[in-house]
Amino acid sequence: MKGRKPLVGVTGIIGSGKSTFSRFLAELGAAVFDADQAAREVTEEEEVLRRIREHFGSGVFAPDGSLDRAALAGRVFQDPGELAWLNRLIHPRVREKMWAFVESARRDPAVPVIVIDAPLVFETDLHRYLDAVIVVAADPETCIQRTMKRSGIDRSRIVERMKNQMPLDEKIRRADFVVDNNGDLAHLKEQAAKIFRQILERFQSTS
Ligand code: ADP
Repeated sequence: MKGRKPLVGVTGIIGSGKSTFSRFLAELGAAVFDADQAAREVTEEEEVLRRIREHFGSGVFAPDGSLDRAALAGRVFQDPGELAWLNRLIHPRVREKMWAFVESARRDPAVPVIVIDAPLVFETDLHRYLDAVIVVAADPETCIQRTMKRSGIDRSRIVERMKNQMPLDEKIRRADFVVDNNGDLAHLKEQAAKIFRQILERFQSTS
């Protein structure tokens, strides 16, 4: 593994602090791909909006024609079949963006580490393409509280979303690095610096 630019996943349950941790890695020089952000961009594409309207009808659109994300979330997070349909539409497009990002980051000599910040790494088999997976872990109740504070989404909706993800202990079991995010942001930042160093040591050429 020495001598190649590491491609690392950062994952965890909703509200665990993946994005915050990834932001700390970015401050250290990592190129970070935000899969949630990419998924939002994909759901602004004309073709994707057309397929969503065909499948779900105009009930998931606001009167001004824009996608009503809360309504769509309401439909898919209560119905695994509908969630699978939406994922089949969105995930390949997110992957395409991700690989384009990775290719360009691989060519950039200023980038020492490439990070994929994604909620569904194991669930979508993305880990097969990664050199290491970092799981950011916090007590599920803490994750719920932080998500409610950040987004204003109802507790029941957050719990529904969590149920569609692999449980935290299973993610921890499969992780190469586990980050404890039950503490404050300073503690999270310290762990980002430590793991960043460990990744560089593990993967980069020493010659
Ligand atoms: P995720 O990307 O895993 O959903 P985020 O990184 O967006 O999670 O974090 C969820 C919310 O919790 C954000 O508002 C973030 O600022 C906050 N947060 C994350 N880690 C901590 C922490 N250690 N202490 C306090 N707030 C935190």
